[in-house]
Amino acid sequence: MENEQALALINRQDPMRKNDEELQTLWNHHSARVLPVYNGKSLIETIQSQPHLAWLSVQEPWQLQDAIFLGTTRTPEAEQTPWFALTLDDNSANGMSLPSSIEFQDLRAVGPHLTSDDSALLKYAKGLTFWHSNTRFCNRCGNSLVNSHGGHTKQCSSSECGQLVFPRTDPAVIMLVTRTDASGEEWCLLGRSPIWPAGMYSTLAGFVESGESLEQAVAREVFEESGIRVKEVQYLASQPWPFPRSIMLGFKAVATTEDITIDKNELEDARWFSRTDLQNFGKWGDENFAFQMPRTDSIAHFLIDQWIQGS
Ligand SMILES: [Zn+2]
Repeated sequence: MENEQALALINRQDPMRKNDEELQTLWNHHSARVLPVYNGKSLIETIQSQPHLAWLSVQEPWQLQDAIFLGTTRTPEAEQTPWFALTLDDNSANGMSLPSSIEFQDLRAVGPHLTSDDSALLKYAKGLTFWHSNTRFCNRCGNSLVNSHGGHTKQCSSSECGQLVFPRTDPAVIMLVTRTDASGEEWCLLGRSPIWPAGMYSTLAGFVESGESLEQAVAREVFEESGIRVKEVQYLASQPWPFPRSIMLGFKAVATTEDITIDKNELEDARWFSRTDLQNFGKWGDENFAFQMPRTDSIAHFLIDQWIQGS
């Protein structure tokens, strides 16, 4: 759902990643911009209540070898801006002097308020910076890893080993399950986790297990969490979800059973809702409503909204 927009905005420039001289030229270019990350939070500028990514010029003591090359803007070559992400240490972060309109914020909190372009870029940057912060040693021999290919791979520093390590993405399935009752009315299955904001209901979801197809994962997760059996599992859309490194694969499925038995380790409630029920849901976080939709920038919201619209 967001991928097409992100692809429209940025050219990831895979060949440039592999050319160290070209990367250095891009880093030194006057138009190069860096999105700093500190303690998992990204630099956000708020202009007239609208948050935006805060891109900064390259500055001392930042080094290319610590940065991740995200790509360039999809503008004519002479006007291309190279974009980098960089995780700051305490000294670098505390040494920055920033106007009051710019501060480090968590993607989870600011995400629903960003433009879709900024949200997609931030997920891209956050996924890679998280991987960098948590992938420091070779899992084969234990030696340290060194950045390569503009930060999109890492290589073991041992000349005997030299293993290349790539960022990992964990697939998760998320699904809207529906059924039609004897009178012809349609219902969809939503549940809630006890850790969610009070009143928020959403589609069921879970991680794909080893050796499992996506369709099998959908059927298994729905049955484990709600006791409902499904058929006609159909893929709809996907969304990167770097919390910390997932991709959410969105499906719809048709229930073949009706009685719900929840897994209390996963959910505190699950129910069938009609379209009329859902039209009376409040927006995410609106406590004036007993029931609330998931956040607007989530694929869960997209799946539910598609169904409300009749598809
Ligand atoms: Zn190694």
